[in-house]
Amino acid sequence: MEQPLLTNHDVDRRRFLRWGLAAAAAVCIPMPAWAGALGTGKRRLSFSNLHTGENLTAVYWSNGAYQRNAVDEINHLLRDFRTGDVHPMDLRLLDLLHLLQRKVKSQSPFQVISGYRSPATNAKLASVGHGVARRSYHMKGMAIDVALDDRKLTSLRDAALALKAGGVGFYPKPGFVHVDVGPIRSW
Ligand SMILES: [Zn+2]
Repeated sequence: MEQPLLTNHDVDRRRFLRWGLAAAAAVCIPMPAWAGALGTGKRRLSFSNLHTGENLTAVYWSNGAYQRNAVDEINHLLRDFRTGDVHPMDLRLLDLLHLLQRKVKSQSPFQVISGYRSPATNAKLASVGHGVARRSYHMKGMAIDVALDDRKLTSLRDAALALKAGGVGFYPKPGFVHVDVGPIRSW
């Protein structure tokens, strides 16, 4: 294994360890059926975070491997904007989003309504309703709430349901679709 190009700084080390675990998890678990559609080409994702105004386009998988710097950038953009906490996003979620964008043939970045949620943020939101589950996949980096500028919300939902890759929640009023890589279910 290659020596990581990192300083000995504790924060960097922890970040690397966490990322390593996330990557290992994605490698060790059996590939879900839907992942077969991913192919061997580059995997790119574009995001626009509605809360922070940050935009990002990143090739997070190329030459047969997840690209650590790109994944780090994505994790940062999808952080809990209320607390600033960064958490490694499940790599299967990134693949799911990539497939989703391809399926609906969208040219727009994913508008991010909610990515990672720290336990503190989640508890706060759950306590005032918001349809927030107390044990949310958002707290594990396994869920995201998104919309696409150039596609109807119903198209996005239908494409997500067709992928059969996890949970799909439809929220027409605030205007987003929740997707996660938990068990297959919908609401
Ligand atoms: Zn959600």
